[in-house]
Amino acid sequence: MQLEFFGAAGEVTGSCHILRVAGRQLLLDCGLVQGGRDAAERNRQPFPFEASSIDAVVLSHAHVDHCGRLPLLVKRGFRGPIYTNAACADLVPILLRDSAYLLLKETERANRDQPSENHVQPLFDLEDVARTLRLVQRMAYDRPTEVLPGVTVRVRDAGHILGSSSVELSLEDNGVRRTLVFSGDLGQYDTPILKDPHRFESADLVLMESTYGNRRHRGREDTERELGGIIDQAARDGGNILIPAFAIGRSQELLYLLAKHYGAWRVDRWKIFLDSPMAIAASHVYWKHPDRYDEETSRLRTGFRGMPPLPNLVLSESAEESRAINNLRGGAIVIAGSGMANGGRILHHLRHNLERPECHVIIVGFQAPGTLGRRLVDREPEVFIHGRRVRCASQIHTLGGLSAHGDQADLLRWYDSFRPRPPVYLVHGEVAVAEALADKLRALGAQADVSRPGLVVDLAKMPSTARH
Ligand SMILES: [Zn+2]
Repeated sequence: MQLEFFGAAGEVTGSCHILRVAGRQLLLDCGLVQGGRDAAERNRQPFPFEASSIDAVVLSHAHVDHCGRLPLLVKRGFRGPIYTNAACADLVPILLRDSAYLLLKETERANRDQPSENHVQPLFDLEDVARTLRLVQRMAYDRPTEVLPGVTVRVRDAGHILGSSSVELSLEDNGVRRTLVFSGDLGQYDTPILKDPHRFESADLVLMESTYGNRRHRGREDTERELGGIIDQAARDGGNILIPAFAIGRSQELLYLLAKHYGAWRVDRWKIFLDSPMAIAASHVYWKHPDRYDEETSRLRTGFRGMPPLPNLVLSESAEESRAINNLRGGAIVIAGSGMANGGRILHHLRHNLERPECHVIIVGFQAPGTLGRRLVDREPEVFIHGRRVRCASQIHTLGGLSAHGDQADLLRWYDSFRPRPPVYLVHGEVAVAEALADKLRALGAQADVSRPGLVVDLAKMPSTARH
């Protein structure tokens, strides 16, 4: 009964952990490495296991740093079931098809100036995605399912994006029983739309994310007030507002906040563009799962008699519709991907607006090193977009409080419900950040360590603290 760390161990992306129980192998997530110059190269490297020897995958949620290498796993021989929550299963096709498209474009770019013998193939294509989607098995929250002999899985709300799960695994091997809880990515408590993360009570070992393990987000109310202030300022300045946002999660949350404060923020002055076919598709998935909403959102939905609750929302599907937004010099709120501004339609909006001081850019999510979004956050005076030098004259705002990830206090609150304290390995965080969280967890009485790739934990040799 062993756990081995592979991806998102000592870093934020590429989530993948290997569990070996009773002669079977199971993966927790199989995500893409993102950000940084060597990401494409690292994604191509062989897995530290035979893909065909993996018996099943449990997927925590639909973000590509968690699910993005599943088609590659399938391409390399995996044929087992992929278990995940039903709402997540509705989002995964949107994300994987988009990944296949981006990978194809990336390959075309890389091959452009190369002789044909040096041409590379995309990591995977739409056919690999189709074969992957056929393996997906939908799970309801809170209901235990035996996924392999000796492995029973229960997915629980993680409050991070729609369909996101913390995964509880009950393991049995040779009479030894252990419970492992993998946090997945954890949302903030009281996050808009979604229910709070599940409150666990007992485990023998916890794998826990640590993305913002050393940070405190601004309070929810402060953040909303700040967003309202920026919108007001932008209205006075007469410019546009650009928001690079992940298609899934932040986009829907922003629409929700604009609806919630429609009167107070005088949102009727604006035309709101959801300028991303992917975010539009994801929004439709959000709107079709009202059973996953928290109370406040359920009330808003009822008051508006359905979703989306915004009369001035334009869903701009086509490239022409997107380009037409460039004719607007002011009065537009544009929500577009990608979330870290390293691709997607937000690039041409930034190219047209960034040099104009009356425009405002609002950064609402994590920006990995090396991405354009990070350069904007770091206030670089000029950036390159589509090979062109662009001066940054717009006003850049970072709204940390809208993060899909809980902050240090949220993470400690999540762990604090375990009695007695199970040992915890931190994943999904830069090492220094995870170390800071480990210190805080030790102060709570936990044995806390930061994971690293290749580290193997023998669960059978650990003392059992869980109530089985
Ligand atoms: Zn995530």
